[in-house]
Amino acid sequence: MKAEPGHYDAIIIGGGPAGSTAAMYLSRAGKRALVLERETFPRFHIGESLLPYNVPIFEELGLMPALREAGFMEKYGAQFVLPDGSLRTEIEFGRGRFTDQPMSYQVERSKFDDLLLRHAARGGATVREGMEVKDFTVDPAGGVVVTAQNGGAPERFTAEFLIDASGTANFTGNREGLKEIYEEHRKFAIYGHYTGIPLPDEARKCGDILIYRLKDAWFWFIPLSREKVSLGLVVDRAALRESALTPEERFDAAVQRCPELRERLAVAQRVGPVRTIADFSYRNRRFVSPRLVRVGDAAGFLDPIFSSGVYLAMLTAREAAQAVSEAIDTGRTLTPAMRRYERRTRSHLGAYFEMIRHFYTQPFIELLMQPQAKWHLPDAVVAILAGQMEGGWAVRWRLRVFFWLVRLQACFPVVKRLRIE
Ligand SMILES: Cc1cc2nc3c(=O)[nH]c(=O)nc-3n(C[C@H](O)[C@H](O)[C@H](O)COP(=O)(O)OP(=O)(O)OC[C@H]3O[C@@H](n4cnc5c(N)ncnc54)[C@H](O)[C@@H]3O)c2cc1C
Repeated sequence: MKAEPGHYDAIIIGGGPAGSTAAMYLSRAGKRALVLERETFPRFHIGESLLPYNVPIFEELGLMPALREAGFMEKYGAQFVLPDGSLRTEIEFGRGRFTDQPMSYQVERSKFDDLLLRHAARGGATVREGMEVKDFTVDPAGGVVVTAQNGGAPERFTAEFLIDASGTANFTGNREGLKEIYEEHRKFAIYGHYTGIPLPDEARKCGDILIYRLKDAWFWFIPLSREKVSLGLVVDRAALRESALTPEERFDAAVQRCPELRERLAVAQRVGPVRTIADFSYRNRRFVSPRLVRVGDAAGFLDPIFSSGVYLAMLTAREAAQAVSEAIDTGRTLTPAMRRYERRTRSHLGAYFEMIRHFYTQPFIELLMQPQAKWHLPDAVVAILAGQMEGGWAVRWRLRVFFWLVRLQACFPVVKRLRIE
C-alpha cells in the first residue's frame, strides 16, 4: 500500500490503556499511528486498581511525572478480609522475595485514561475521538477501517497493520467469531463511588486495596483518594438471577453480611449511580493474524479479582507494538515476533486465570489467608499479584506446589478450615 492521505503505519481501534500504550510505543519507533476512539475523553471506566509491575512501563513511557502530578493514591499492598473481620491477610508488595516493584496507583480511570491518550497524542500519534469504527477488512496488502462520527459521513482509513484495542467490545474478535467464554465463570459486578469513609492515617496502608471475601461473592474496596472510595461486589450471575433481587438489593444484602464494611458505609454517601456489568471472562481463539493484532481486553478479559486488566492491557500493547513495528520494518505480514506475542499473551492470561479459578474455591482462600512461610510459597503468590510475569522457575515451581497444596487442602486440612459466611 502506498503512502496517501488517510494511510498510516498502524490503525489502533480504541483509546483505552491498551490503545494509548500501543500508540506510544509505535510513535517511539517512528511509526505513524492513528487511534480511533468512539467516546470523547474523559469518560467513566471501571478498572481502578493498578499493579506494581505497571510502573516499569510507566517509567519507560515517561509517564511517571504526570502520574505523580495527577495525585493518584499510592498503593503499597492488598488485604484479604473475612466478612466478620475475624481474619485479615496483608500483602505488602515491597516485601515479596520475587518482586522488586513496591508500589502502584489507584486511579480514577476517567483521569488516567485521558492522561494516557493525551500523552500518546503529544508523542506523535494522531488521535481522533468520537470516532466509532464500524467496519474493517484485512488482507495481505493491509488493513482498512470505516468509521462513523456522530452522524457525520463515514470515513475510510488504511494502514499496514490494524491493532484491535477495543476492550470488551472485542470488535474484530466478535466479527471473526473467535470469542470463547469461560463458561463456568459468568459473574456480575455491582459498583459505585462513595465519599465520607474514614481511611487509615498511615500513608502506606491508606491506599491498600481491600478484598472482602464472602462465601458466594466478594467486594473490592479501592481508596481512590482520601475522600473517595470505589466499592464493588462481584457475584455469580446465575445466583443473582435466581435470587430475584435487584442488583442494588443484592449489594445491600451483602453489605449487611460484612460487619466491617457495614460500619464503614454507615457514614458514607454514594456519589453517582450504582453501575452494573456482566463481566464474563473470555479470550479469543487467536490474537494475531496477518496484519492484525489484538491487545488488552480485545485479546482476552479476565475476572477483576487480581486487578490484572490494565497491566495486561499495557503489557500486551507494548509487546504487540514492538512486534508490529518490526514487521513493518521488514515488510512482512506475520512474523515470528507476532507468533511469540500470541504465545506469551496466552501464557499471561493462563497464569492469571489459574489464580482466578482457585480464588473462588474455599481451600485456596484457606491457604491464602493462613500463609505458611515454608519454601517462600506465599512470595510466589505475591509475585503474581504484583504482576511479576518474569519470575522464572523460582516462582513457577512454588506456584505448582501451592496449587498442589490447595488440592490437598480440599481433602486433608493442611491449615485450619475457615468458616466463611
Ligand atoms: C467490574 C470490573 C472491575 C475491574 N477492576 C479492575 C481493576 O481494579 N484493575 C484493573 O487493572 N483492571 C480492572 N478491570 C479490567 C479493566 O477495566 C480492563 O482490563 C482494562 O480497561 C482494559 O483496557 P483496554 O484498553 O484493553 O480496554 P478499555 O479500557 O475498555 O478501552 C477500550 C476502548 O475502546 C473503545 N472502543 C470500543 N469499540 C470501539 C470501536 N468500535 N471504535 C472505536 N473505539 C472503540 C472504547 O470506547 C474504549 O475506550 C475491571 C473490569 C471490570 C469489568
